[in-house]
Amino acid sequence: MFGIMMDKQLNIADILEYAALYNTDAEIVTNTVEGGYHRYGYNDALLRSKQLANALRTLGVEQGDRVATLAWNTYRHFELYYAISGMGAVTHTINPRLFAEQIIYIINHAENEWVFVDLTFVPLLEAVQSQIGGVKGFIVMTDAAHMPESSLPNLMCYEDLLSEQSSEFEWPQFDENLAAGLCYTSGTTGNPKGVMYSHRSTVLHAMSSCRASALNLGPMSRVLPVVPMFHVCAWGIPYAAPIAGSSILFPGAGMDGASLYGLIDGEKATALLGVPTVWLGLLNYIESVKGNLDTVESVVIGGSAAPRSMMEKFTEVYDVFPIHAWGMTEMSPMGSLCAMTPYLKKADKESRMRIQSKQGRAVFGVEMRIVDDNDEPLPHDGKTFGKLMVKGPWVASGYYKNDDRSAFRGGWFDTGDVSTIDSMGYMQIVDRSKDVIKSGGEWISSIELENFAVGHEGVVEACVVGIAHPKWDERPLLLIVRKEGSSCTKEDIIAYLTDKVAKWWLPDDVVFVESLPHTATGKLLKTEVRAKYENHYQT
Ligand code: ADP
Repeated sequence: MFGIMMDKQLNIADILEYAALYNTDAEIVTNTVEGGYHRYGYNDALLRSKQLANALRTLGVEQGDRVATLAWNTYRHFELYYAISGMGAVTHTINPRLFAEQIIYIINHAENEWVFVDLTFVPLLEAVQSQIGGVKGFIVMTDAAHMPESSLPNLMCYEDLLSEQSSEFEWPQFDENLAAGLCYTSGTTGNPKGVMYSHRSTVLHAMSSCRASALNLGPMSRVLPVVPMFHVCAWGIPYAAPIAGSSILFPGAGMDGASLYGLIDGEKATALLGVPTVWLGLLNYIESVKGNLDTVESVVIGGSAAPRSMMEKFTEVYDVFPIHAWGMTEMSPMGSLCAMTPYLKKADKESRMRIQSKQGRAVFGVEMRIVDDNDEPLPHDGKTFGKLMVKGPWVASGYYKNDDRSAFRGGWFDTGDVSTIDSMGYMQIVDRSKDVIKSGGEWISSIELENFAVGHEGVVEACVVGIAHPKWDERPLLLIVRKEGSSCTKEDIIAYLTDKVAKWWLPDDVVFVESLPHTATGKLLKTEVRAKYENHYQT
C-alpha cells in the first residue's frame, strides 16, 4: 500500500521562491570584486535570477547543459546557482586554484559551452583559451564600467546581459533526480573526477544541514561562508541559508584576515564556515589588532582536521563554539559534525576537547560504518580503525562520465579515509588511507601528530609523512613551518611531543621549511612532500 500524499518533486528554484516570499528581512551582503559592499534581499536575487534564466535561454542553453562558473562567493554567483539549475541546466563550479591543465581537462570533460567568470580569473582563461575550443562565449561577472580588455572570444558583460531581459520566468517542473550541479574533486593523482548532484540531493542536503543539531541556522543567523562556492558549493550554504531564513555575508575575493574581520565585525556575522588555514589567518589578524568575535556564536571547521589549539582559542579566548565537521565533495559535502549536546555542555575542558577533536556524529541522512580489507564491518569501540564507508541520499553513486567504480561497493561509498567510531557514534579520522604511516606492522596517524605539533607555540604549520625505512618499513618525518621570530629546534619539538604520543610514534627527524605545498582545496600535498624526501631515511 502506498501513502496518499502529493508527489511534489524537490526543486532548487523552490528554495529561492520560498525565501523571496517569507524571508523578507534577511540580507545578502557581498564584499564585491570591484570594491565596496553590495546588499539586497532574497526577492531581488529571485528577480535577477529570472532575468538570468531568460538570458541563458537566449544564449541557447538547454536542459542538461553544463554551464561553468569560475567565481568567488558573491551575489552574482548566487544568482547563477539558481538561474542555471532552476531552468534545468547544470551549474558547474570550477575551482580556479586548480592547475591550468586540470582546468582545461574539466572544461572539456564537462563540455562547457558558456563560462561565467569573475574579473580576477579572466587572465587565467586567456592563458588556456586555445585549449578550450568548445566554449562558445565568456560572460564577465561585472558591469559595463568594469569590463576588461581581453583576448577572450565572444566576451559579454553580465549586467548588460541581464538588463535586456524580463524578470518574468516560469521555472520548469521536472523530475527531482535531474542533474543540478557538477563539482570536480581535486584528486592529488590522476584526473579530477566529476560529482553530479541532483535537485533532490541538493534540497535534502540543505534541509538537513540547517537544523539545530547540524549547522544551527535560523532567521537570526548572519552566516559567512568563507569556504568557496567553487568548492562543494560553499558546503551548501547558498541553499541552506535561504531555507533557514538566514542572512548571507559573501566575502568575494577578500579571504585574508583583515577583509574577513572587516566583514565579520561590520556586518555582525554570527556563524562562520571554513577550513583551518583560513581561521589561522583570521585568528592571527584579530590577535594583531586586539579585535574580538563578540557577535559570532559558532565557527564550522572542516575540510582538514581542526587542530585542538585552534578550537581552544575559539572557545576560551573568543567565546565562539567550534563545530568540527567532516565531509567530502562526493557527499555534497556534509557527513558528520560535533554539535552541542547536554553531555558536551557539562563536560570538563579535557573531555570536551577530546570529543570535539573527533569529526563528530553522522547527521540524519548519512549512514556510516568502518570495514576491514574484505569490507567486513568492524566494531564501533573507538579503538578499532578501518575504511570509512558511507551511504545516503546526498552521497554520490558514481562519477560523471567515468567508469571507475572501485570506491562504490555493495551500496556503500568508500571515502578513502581511515577512521574509528566510538560507542556514542563519534567518528574520528585517523588518516587518508594513502597517508597512514605503516611502521613495524603498526599504524601511525599522520593527522594526530600534525595536530599535536601545531600546538607548539613556535609552529605555524606541520606536515607528517611516512618515509621508507630499512628496518621499520616506514617511519614518520615531521616538516615544520616556524612562526616568524621562532627559533625552536628539533629537540624542542620532540620534547613537546613526548608526553602526547606513544614513544614509537615520535618522528625520527624534524625538518624546518619555509612553506609547505597545498592542493587547490588547501590540503597538504603529501605526494609532493613524500617524493621530495623519499630517501631521507636510507642512509
Ligand atoms: P578535495 O577536493 O580536496 O578532495 P574534499 O573536500 O572532497 O576535497 O576532501 C574530502 C576529504 O577531506 C575527506 O575525505 C577527508 O580526508 C578530508 N577532511 C574533510 N574534513 C575533515 C576533517 N574535519 N578532519 C580531517 N579530514 C577531513
